[in-house]
Amino acid sequence: MKKQKSTGVNIVIRQHLFNNILFQNARITDGMCDQFGDVWIENGIIRKVARKIDFKASDIAEIIDLQGLSLLPAMADVHCHFREPGYEYKEDIDSGLRAAIKGGYGFVAAMANTLPVADTYDIISANNAKAKSANLCDFLQIAAIGKGLCDSELVDVETLLKLTRLFSNDGNSILCEDFMLRALQASAQYGFVLATHCQPEEELIERDLHLLKKVPNAQLHICHVSKVDSVEMIRNAKREKLPVTCEVTPHHLFAAQADIAMPCDLPFVQNLDYKVNPPIGNFKDRLALIEGLRDGTIDMLASDHAPHSEEDKRAGAPGIANIETAFGMYLQVFDEDGSLSMKDFCRLTSDAPYRLLGRQSARIKEGREATLIVADVETKGKIDTSDFVSKSKNTPFDGWDIRGKVLRTYIRGEKKYDSGQTL
Ligand SMILES: [Zn+2]
Repeated sequence: MKKQKSTGVNIVIRQHLFNNILFQNARITDGMCDQFGDVWIENGIIRKVARKIDFKASDIAEIIDLQGLSLLPAMADVHCHFREPGYEYKEDIDSGLRAAIKGGYGFVAAMANTLPVADTYDIISANNAKAKSANLCDFLQIAAIGKGLCDSELVDVETLLKLTRLFSNDGNSILCEDFMLRALQASAQYGFVLATHCQPEEELIERDLHLLKKVPNAQLHICHVSKVDSVEMIRNAKREKLPVTCEVTPHHLFAAQADIAMPCDLPFVQNLDYKVNPPIGNFKDRLALIEGLRDGTIDMLASDHAPHSEEDKRAGAPGIANIETAFGMYLQVFDEDGSLSMKDFCRLTSDAPYRLLGRQSARIKEGREATLIVADVETKGKIDTSDFVSKSKNTPFDGWDIRGKVLRTYIRGEKKYDSGQTL
C-alpha cells in the first residue's frame, strides 16, 4: 500500500481497499509455525497476523471466515514440464499454469526438454514472456546446460543467466563425466543451480557427488531421487557438507512396485505397468524416501509434472501428469503414520523450493507476499482425471485415495483460483 496521505482521502481509500482481505479463524501453517488466527492482506502483502484481528469494517473489502480451514504458503515447484515450444498438444505454458494454480502452486519452474530445446536467450525469454502475460502464477524457464540437451557443448551460461538461475538437461542424463565436471565448474563460477536427471541413478549420483568434492562452490540439485542407496549417498554427502540438494516426486512417494519382500495388501503397493523415469521403486525404496523427508536428506517435493497425450503414452513416453494432484498425494503419504507434520509439508513444498528458485522462504507473517492457498487438509478424496485442467490426463492413479484439497490460490493477494474455477 502506498502511504502517501497527501494524495487525498478518496484515492487512499480506494487503493487501501483494493485487494484487501481479512481471513478469520484460519489454521495458519508455514515452515516455522502452525497456529490458529486471522490474517489480513492488503495490496498483495500480509499486513497483520494475530490470534484475533480487530478491525473497522470500513478498512476491509472482504472478510472470509475460514472456520478452521488451512491457510498455507502457495507451493513452489522446481521441476515440471510444460512442453512449449514444440509439444503444445500435451501442454502449453498457459494450460500448465492453470493446472499449477489449481494444484496450489505460486511459482513453477519448467524443464528445458522442449522442441527446440530451451537453450537460447530467445526461447527462454519467449517462454518467460508468455507466462507473464498469462498472469497466473510465477514462472521460471529452466535452461538446458548442454546445447540441444546433449552432454558435449555447454550453453552460453553468461547470457542465459540474465533469464534463469536453474540449468538442467532433465529428461536426459549427463553420461559424459568430463561434461559433468565442466557443468559443475560453470555452476561454481556463475552461481547457478545445476539440476540433474540420473539414470542409472545410483551410479551417476555416486559419480556426481564425487565430482562435487572437486568443485566445492558448485550447487548440485539431484532430481527425482527414487532409490534407497541414493538417499543414503546424499545423506552422507550432506554430512560432509557438500553443496547438494535433492527432490522427490509425488509418484515415488505414493506408490511402490510389488516384490516378494513385502506385504502386498498395502494400498500403495501395486504392480504398476506405467512408464516413468526413474521407475517407481520397491517397498524399501519408498520407506527410505519418506525417512529422507523426515530427516532432511531430501530437501523438497517436486511434481515432475510430465504431461503426455494418450497416443504418446501408448508409444512409450515416460512420465505422469501430477501437478493438480501432488498436494493430495503428498498429504495422503504424510497421513500414513503421522510422523510428518504440516510444518514439514510447508518446509518441503514452499520453503526449500522457493529458496532454490532464488526467493526467500515462504512465511505467513507481516510484510511478506500474500501468495497463499486456502485448503482443506483433512478431507478425503480420490484422484479424478475427469477434473484435470491440464491438457493431458496421464496418470496410473485415477481413483486412488488422496487427502486434502486446494480450495483457493492467491498470488500476491489476487485470487487466481477458486474451487474449480480459474479466475
Ligand atoms: Zn527427469
